[in-house]
Amino acid sequence: MNYDYLIVGSGLFGSTFACEAAKRGKRVKVIDKRSHIGGNIYTEKIEGINVHKYGAHIFHTNNKKIWGYVNQFAEFNRYTNSPIANYKGEIYNLPFNMNTFNKLWGVVTPEEAREKIEQQKAEAHLGKPTNLEEQAISLIGTDVYLKLIKGYTEKQWGRKATELPPFIIRRLPVRFTYDNNYFNDKYQGIPIGGYTQIIDKMLSSDLIDVELNTDFFSRKDEYLRRYPKIIYTGMIDQFFNYQFGTLEYRSLKFETEVLNQHNFQGNAVVNYTDAETPYTRIIEHKHFEFGDQPKTVITREFPLNWERGDEPYYPMNDEKNNALYRKYKKLADRTPNVLFGGRLGMYQYYDMHQVIAASLAAVAREFDEKASC
Ligand code: FAD
Ligand code: UDP
Repeated sequence: MNYDYLIVGSGLFGSTFACEAAKRGKRVKVIDKRSHIGGNIYTEKIEGINVHKYGAHIFHTNNKKIWGYVNQFAEFNRYTNSPIANYKGEIYNLPFNMNTFNKLWGVVTPEEAREKIEQQKAEAHLGKPTNLEEQAISLIGTDVYLKLIKGYTEKQWGRKATELPPFIIRRLPVRFTYDNNYFNDKYQGIPIGGYTQIIDKMLSSDLIDVELNTDFFSRKDEYLRRYPKIIYTGMIDQFFNYQFGTLEYRSLKFETEVLNQHNFQGNAVVNYTDAETPYTRIIEHKHFEFGDQPKTVITREFPLNWERGDEPYYPMNDEKNNALYRKYKKLADRTPNVLFGGRLGMYQYYDMHQVIAASLAAVAREFDEKASC
């Protein structure tokens, strides 16, 4: 078959693009180096439970069109993410809200909580926050920072909080209401039956062929010659042979266990926020879908240093890496037959809704249409 597009990576970016291109009558080949489709949103059934193989994935967005778009491919349940923090056996609600402040300080009203935070901020003598530690203390004070942020963050990123960019902690809400919803977005849920069905449906057209266990770099020159256009969702620096240097990522190791018990931790996500516990969180997958199976499946998530050849889960979007990325982006802009997309191709800490939006924007540009989302 003569294809119009080669898509490198069957994650959410590549699969959204493939689906939309096929809808427009284009013939598409999708390759992925993994043995399954879906990239990091892949879920697999174990003991009747949909297991998030690459960590907890909760879909959330404020964009009604993106919510409508993803709902074409699966029905979503009413799951609301409300993780628990376990700090040396003490349990706190996340994100940082009145339940957290009440447990920590015994305060009852929002005014009392604000006063406490203001007092701790004043004692820390901060100017405009220049790193994650200063940003965290200026948002919620020293106590929350020391118990719920510092240990978790330094494990997760393998760096001192004083060496990390402030934006990472701004992902989390700080609320003066008794509301344990981790996200502020209007729409949230988990696809009933797991995420893989979404990718399955996106790639279901007869115009799309999928080839797994296939690394782009095993035949890069041939692919570049044979395909008129390539959508590339792997690491951008690898595409250009690391010629300006290596972008940094953070990796993870997942340890999954089937337990012969009904309910292990009573919540889908429990974060271990001390410095000593080697993992950052334990996921108990059945709770994402309110499961009542006799057994349970849990996954411990261990942060790891990333080296070439490891799975690059998180881009390290600090100034140094962002500057290096901009150099690769310039090269990418001068490579018109290759479009770079997704968390790795765009080197952005994107969530799923942002990846779908970025892919639909790329589709609109490619087909000269008005953006739909
Ligand atoms: P990926 O899913 O990484 O897909 C890229 C694909 O390209 C992969 O399948 C890979 O195998 C393939 N590939 C790479 N290089 C090559 C090559 N050389 N040859 C062939 N194939 C290649 N988002 C949320 O919205 N909510 C959450 O709760 C959430 N939790 C997360 C938790 C964790 C632990 C992680 C790591 C991410 C989380 N995300 C979450 C983010 C979400 O996973 C991403 O936004 C989304 O999956 C990115 O899709 P993508 O297509 O850009 O990349
Ligand atoms: N974070 C923290 N304590 C927690 C949860 C998160 O300090 O209990 C910090 C940590 O630095 C993390 C960031 O907040 O990297 C963003 O958290 P999020 O849950 O969005 O991380 P992700 O799901 O992307 O791993």
